[in-house]
Amino acid sequence: MAKIVLLPGDGIGPEIIREAVKVLEAVASIEGFDLEWETADMGGIAIDKHGIPLPEATLAACHAADGVLLGAVGGPKWDDLPGQKRPEAGLLGIRKGLGLFANLRPAKIFGALQEASSLKAEVVAGIDILVVRELTGGLYFGKPRFREELPGGGMRAVDTLEYSTYEIERIAKVAFEAARERRRKVTSVDKANILESSRLWRETVSQLAWEYPEIELNHMFVDNCAMQLVRNPGQFDVILTTNMFGDILSDAAAMLTGSLGMLPSASLGGRVGLYEPVHGSAPDIAGQGVANPLAAILSGAMLLRYSLGRGRAAALVEAAVENALAIGYRTRDIVQSGAKLVDTATMGDLVAEAILGGGKHG
Ligand code: NAD
Repeated sequence: MAKIVLLPGDGIGPEIIREAVKVLEAVASIEGFDLEWETADMGGIAIDKHGIPLPEATLAACHAADGVLLGAVGGPKWDDLPGQKRPEAGLLGIRKGLGLFANLRPAKIFGALQEASSLKAEVVAGIDILVVRELTGGLYFGKPRFREELPGGGMRAVDTLEYSTYEIERIAKVAFEAARERRRKVTSVDKANILESSRLWRETVSQLAWEYPEIELNHMFVDNCAMQLVRNPGQFDVILTTNMFGDILSDAAAMLTGSLGMLPSASLGGRVGLYEPVHGSAPDIAGQGVANPLAAILSGAMLLRYSLGRGRAAALVEAAVENALAIGYRTRDIVQSGAKLVDTATMGDLVAEAILGGGKHG
């Protein structure tokens, strides 16, 4: 039996995780496997109950699980706390604690939502991109990192950008292996015309590519990639990049699909993977039953695929989401004229029913 730890977190987190559980239970029953659940505290709720955003017991539960499904953390209630005590510190802590160095963010356009993109429908038609972002190195973690007063007045602040061949190889492997299961194309994104760390990145990725002769590799400067994402996103399959470039490009790629409430993510690298929607805790709509649960549900599908090795069950969930959208159901954030507006729980029911119905009827 696979054990999944749930970290619902704050704001809309508990509402959307409830729907993801509903859908995963449905697909497990159809596919004939069992799931065991454990819920633990992380983020603001953990601060309120235990005084810290990531209690030891939560991390221990995650270590003992087969996969972790997170809602979202944070909210105005905790905004004035110092850095290490904020809910978001729990996110960095859990990534580090589980050794998650790879962040996978698919940006796939659902046929029914083509009109929701800010780009023309013909530009985004059929896009299916996977951004593989290095998550524990680069500019966000490099040392030294400090701020100091200058003798002549004013301040100086320093961040450090560094990458080792080891860090580059292990993230590049994730990208090549993901591409194998997709359209077999990797675009490695760097700034090798300027940055020394990017030159090492490019050399290392090119070297590793020899081990994957079936994969087509190309390199692109990050500024060009930003441009190409809005000009011709259909050219991309897997985008492989550094922590900071990936942070920015994955948000840009995400918006091609039209809605934050639709975007799942996976963080991999250690024994246990962490899956979460890209969006935050949306305190502005928490408790109203209007949140879109599809990003959380699709994160659950990624958990099935990457942590439980259940690709067929994952595909069933994705098809059920596609189906609910195709027959016109929408939560408020993605509603269009003529669509059938539903609340969070109903959207979860519709996806679960599509799975159960589809399974029963063939
Ligand atoms: P947000 O993603 O929570 O919300 C941005 C906007 O999108 C809001 O208008 C919100 O209502 C809407 N939205 C987000 N998810 C939605 C969904 N599933 N359905 C419908 N609408 C949705 O970002 P924010 O407002 O910048 O941040 C709110 C809090 O979330 C902050 O405390 C922030 O630190 C935290 N945050 C957490 C994570 C995480 O847990 N991984 C990520 C980003 C932000």
